[in-house]
Amino acid sequence: MAGAGQLAQMTQQAAISLGIELRILAEKETESAVLAGARTLVAETSAESLRELAEGAAVLTFDHEGFDPDLLAQLKDEGIHMAPGPEAVLFAQDKLIARENLSREGFPLPPFAVAESIEDFDAFAGEHGWPVVAKTPRGGYDGGGVFIVEDREAAADLVAKVDGVLILEPLLAIKREFAVLAARSTAGEIAIYPVVETIQKDAICHETLVPAALPDEVCAEATEIARRLVEEIGATGIVAVEFFLTEDGVLINELALRPHNSGHWTIEGCVTSQFEQHLRAVLGWPLGSTELRAPAVALVNILGPDNGVDPLERVPDLIADPDVRLHLYTKGYRPGRKLGHATVLGPDLDAARAKTLHARALLQGEPK
Ligand code: ADP
Repeated sequence: MAGAGQLAQMTQQAAISLGIELRILAEKETESAVLAGARTLVAETSAESLRELAEGAAVLTFDHEGFDPDLLAQLKDEGIHMAPGPEAVLFAQDKLIARENLSREGFPLPPFAVAESIEDFDAFAGEHGWPVVAKTPRGGYDGGGVFIVEDREAAADLVAKVDGVLILEPLLAIKREFAVLAARSTAGEIAIYPVVETIQKDAICHETLVPAALPDEVCAEATEIARRLVEEIGATGIVAVEFFLTEDGVLINELALRPHNSGHWTIEGCVTSQFEQHLRAVLGWPLGSTELRAPAVALVNILGPDNGVDPLERVPDLIADPDVRLHLYTKGYRPGRKLGHATVLGPDLDAARAKTLHARALLQGEPK
């Protein structure tokens, strides 16, 4: 697995149980998956280090999307077996390529346009009004490449600042955000998880809730879209499809072709976690059941709070409650940084959610 963050860390946990030797490429020895004991190659990402990582491995897979698409294509041409393949990964690496291809195939997306100049903003705002949402096609996550552009002046500033094209979208009235996690194996088998609601604040996912508070037909439609999409783009491994529910129905926001924050709840919440499923899928093994283990599953992300409290120091206070399942990523405290998550299974969502929110308050609370 190229990359060594918390996704690789939790994949390592799954790999241990399945007797799989996970080898990772880490840029630093302090990264989460290194500390979790995965066999590590410490090196900058390059053709050489990726070749060395993949040497003798059954398959090369990824814990993030930040790899040069041309480099992946070159390594594939050299005969390195990777899952997902470079053509599919491109849908997660480049939001513009994803939008252009998916809209051509008839998938539901927000209206969008490409902007290179202030005139392009004018044309789009003329049709959809201000504010306009502008996104960099590549490199953004947790809202890093998303700009809400209030007016023409702000658009001119942004055009001057940003190198390259921007994707424009209307500022949507989003009723709900949710995700569907799908797995597709290299043998073509597909398994789909129950729809999960994601509660976002400032473009960061704070909570995930199952079952999602959505009409059955919305869940059925999104599930069908995810199934068709993974086939269409030839994805392998876990794919997270993020959706918006708006007045205009279900719209695709973006894709991730790897285990994803919206699937961490599956570790306890489903028969097969997304991490185990990813390994099964990329190795071409039979996929596991995606059945729920409880009627409701709530999860909160633990972020470094602004008050200077390091949640790690609060762990002994929390683990007195056996219902709260804590996952920490062995990452150093920094305000706003995702340090871990807590999951609670319950008979109903309100009860489970109340416990996760209590856990978060304990971990991120005011100094004692
Ligand atoms: P990232 O790749 O950084 O996660 P996203 O494109 O998923 O960026 O956007 C982050 C968040 O910003 C979304 O979860 C949503 O809350 C909000 N957002 C994105 N696009 C729009 C839009 N067109 N209208 C309104 N809100 C949006």
